[in-house]
Amino acid sequence: MSLPFIDLQAQRKRIESEINAAIQSVVESGRYVLGPEVTELETQLADWCGASHSVSCANGTDALALALMAWELKPGDAVFCPSFTFVATAQVVPWLGAAPIFVDILPDTYNMDPAHLRQQIEAVKAEGKLTPKVVIAVDLFGQPANYPEIRAICDEFGLKLIADTAQGYGCTLNGKHPSDWADIATTSFFPAKPLGCYGDGGAIITNDAKLAERIESLRVYGKVTPTDAAERNFHHDPKYLSLRVGMNSRLDTIQAAVLLEKLKIFADEIEKRQIVADRYAEGLTGHVKRVPSVIAGGKSVWAQYVIEHDNRDGLQAHLSSQGIPTAVYYPVPIHEQDFCARFKPADGTLPVTEAASKHVIALPMHPYLEEVDQTRIIDAIRAFGG
Ligand SMILES: *Cc1c(COP(=O)(O)O)cnc(C)c1O
Repeated sequence: MSLPFIDLQAQRKRIESEINAAIQSVVESGRYVLGPEVTELETQLADWCGASHSVSCANGTDALALALMAWELKPGDAVFCPSFTFVATAQVVPWLGAAPIFVDILPDTYNMDPAHLRQQIEAVKAEGKLTPKVVIAVDLFGQPANYPEIRAICDEFGLKLIADTAQGYGCTLNGKHPSDWADIATTSFFPAKPLGCYGDGGAIITNDAKLAERIESLRVYGKVTPTDAAERNFHHDPKYLSLRVGMNSRLDTIQAAVLLEKLKIFADEIEKRQIVADRYAEGLTGHVKRVPSVIAGGKSVWAQYVIEHDNRDGLQAHLSSQGIPTAVYYPVPIHEQDFCARFKPADGTLPVTEAASKHVIALPMHPYLEEVDQTRIIDAIRAFGG
């Protein structure tokens, strides 16, 4: 029997009647885009993180782009980010004409290596061609990056910090959320993310009211904000005026309604994911090259459970033959992708990233993974050997 990699249907069945009623209610309301459920969702997303503001948008990629647009990034600016992440993290940088500068990861958490970040910033400054502006840290596979150290480096060099928490919304470090350190945290509600909707969606979270207002404007073609209206006299209905180059990145109300129902069980689901992660660690430690480790004081939301194996492809084929699906995140680091050819660093700049991409393999992970099924997965890996 074949197992699901992420069992979204198990979750849907758990809250089926609530979700159906929430969707039906939006359909009947007729307020399909940026309706009242969207505003309520934004309040709850910020509250969850103990932050003051959240602005939703169409997806997690736009959330990143909106942050860079709000800071008016331009050609000649440098944005520091990992290469071992989903392509979206870096791909938004050339949208603004800026250059991604890749930073290596730590071998145990797969998150940004603060020491290498400092080295890369100093190298860019020494070269003098680009101006360091922004750091994008990623909460890869669900666990928080080393925000205390990364924030300190950003402050030292006068850089803005984005937490790309598309995989980590809900994670904490010493009880605090990434938005406690980052100027902006961005997230995605793509269905496979820990907090996913029934389509595409995204949001930013920030404690900066002015920045939130600017992003709200950029998300709807640079519309007039309350601050603009207070500062200027408009001779037209401001509803039809556009003050800055923005985009259309609105969230559908149905998606917000789905997310409001999912938020009610999100804390419980994070606990269930932790139980699944603990079972994997117990069954696999010592049997594979590496099981995940979480930063001290960190709580992961376990978007993925990623192990390393010397014969990764062999293990993948072996598990597949037994109906156990796996995935490789990420087989090709971003700096080796074609779209990034212009930004490729010198050979040998990212050794940890390149080594990880050859050995990582993600196992089935979701809150509803039954113990019997998990035992089958663990036994199959142990039978394949180390
Ligand atoms: C999924 C993801 C994104 C992009 O989110 P979309 O909603 O798919 O646009 C960005 N960064 C990371 C790390 C992601 O995992």
